[in-house]
Amino acid sequence: MTPEVGATVARLRREVAELHRELTRNGLVIWTAGNVSARVPGQDLMVIKPSGVRYEDLTPEAMVVTDLHGVLVEGDRSPSSDTAAHAYVYRHMPEVGGVVHTHSTYATAWAARAEPIPCVLTMIADEFGGDIPVGPFALIGDDTIGRGIVDTLRGSRSPAVLMAGHGPFTVGRGARDAVKAAVMLEDVARTVHISRQLGTPAELAPADVTSLFQRYQNVYGQERA
Ligand SMILES: [Zn+2]
Repeated sequence: MTPEVGATVARLRREVAELHRELTRNGLVIWTAGNVSARVPGQDLMVIKPSGVRYEDLTPEAMVVTDLHGVLVEGDRSPSSDTAAHAYVYRHMPEVGGVVHTHSTYATAWAARAEPIPCVLTMIADEFGGDIPVGPFALIGDDTIGRGIVDTLRGSRSPAVLMAGHGPFTVGRGARDAVKAAVMLEDVARTVHISRQLGTPAELAPADVTSLFQRYQNVYGQERA
């Protein structure tokens, strides 16, 4: 690792550690379930949470660095058990710089029914560009989860996928964007769930969805550049 790459990794260790606190602050995770990773720009490397470490112990030094096949490059602990899925996404989606996985309650309730969240709110159109899609059920351990995430996201504008019988994965240009998508996903999953209790929420017209999505991503989103 050159000194330059080392400095980037140190910055990403701090960023990823801090973003794990957002998962607990926003009530998206319990115990040690849930993880954030960031791609090291220009390198075949990522920074990710170690396996089985409680959130209060997730210091920047506790984070681990792996290559994009999940092989440990730097760190004392083994990487998250979801590392293969994160690595697969980075290998196949070069535009993605951050990945988040949680079992947040309302989003996971939709995943348990393998039901997409319909685009019935401007907030869903803004952030997700349409229905929030469902990915296939997949067992942990090989590339199956990663392939399911990538195949589903490729056919959608959404940065979030609800993996059937499991829970959500979100992506972003950076780790902070992926965490934001995870927080917004849980919020809309909850609102649409509640709306469903008294009737059928009305879907937005596709032309309005596209207009909202483009405005939000291109105008409102300029601060992200
Ligand atoms: Zn999981």
